[in-house]
Amino acid sequence: MFIDSHCHINFSQFDGDRGAVLEQCSQLGIHKIIVPGTHLEFFEQQIHLAKTFPELRNAFGIHPYFLGTYDDTHLNKLAFLLEDKIGSVVALGEIGLDKVISIDWKMQLKAFQAQVEMAKNFKLPIILHHRKSHNEILQILKQCKFNYGGIVHGFSGSLQVANAYIDLGFAIGIGGTITYPRANKTREAIKSLPLSSIVLETDAPDMPLRGNQGVRNSPINIPVIFEALSTLRNEPTQQLQKACFKNVENHLIHV
Ligand SMILES: [Zn+2]
Repeated sequence: MFIDSHCHINFSQFDGDRGAVLEQCSQLGIHKIIVPGTHLEFFEQQIHLAKTFPELRNAFGIHPYFLGTYDDTHLNKLAFLLEDKIGSVVALGEIGLDKVISIDWKMQLKAFQAQVEMAKNFKLPIILHHRKSHNEILQILKQCKFNYGGIVHGFSGSLQVANAYIDLGFAIGIGGTITYPRANKTREAIKSLPLSSIVLETDAPDMPLRGNQGVRNSPINIPVIFEALSTLRNEPTQQLQKACFKNVENHLIHV
């Protein structure tokens, strides 16, 4: 049994064949899929999809990519929704900081900090997005004394950075990155992570696996990522698979 801990199955890239993809997932043993929130505009659609496909679990949050239209009323709307969905929402996210995109950095900091505080108020774990921003994210989590944990999605970085997140109660999201031999630092880090901190994800339709650049990524690739992970690790396959599943349940809620 598998969980895809990070999949944007609600995005329009899946409009043509979402049902078929999810059917294929179920045949491959991918029984739960976490759908992170990215923008207020998609929340209603996420809720609707989870009613149609019971294997989907929703998180809600405002992703740094989508801050172009951001204003403070968005936070109120997010808080209102979380309040309403508090019995089923798995986390607040995905939220974070991204140094590669052109969205104003101060705006990113403000939205991120406010959402970390919100997660704390609602006692919710967080799904974190990072790009060249580990130091800033870790600093804010510590400043806010945030201790509900969550998942660092699409992890890339050193063992030292991974351990800093683990110390704060986070699991490490392992995706297509590990299929690229050039991702040496990340692959080395993942070899040594505690078994209790590893979760699988695709980030579909993004983060294509090696050899599939330019092709839509899909949650059906979870077993391929697992395969790559098991070649890096020493545990028996079954033990590793079980841990990847359990760890999602342990680091998010209502999974
Ligand atoms: Zn994502």
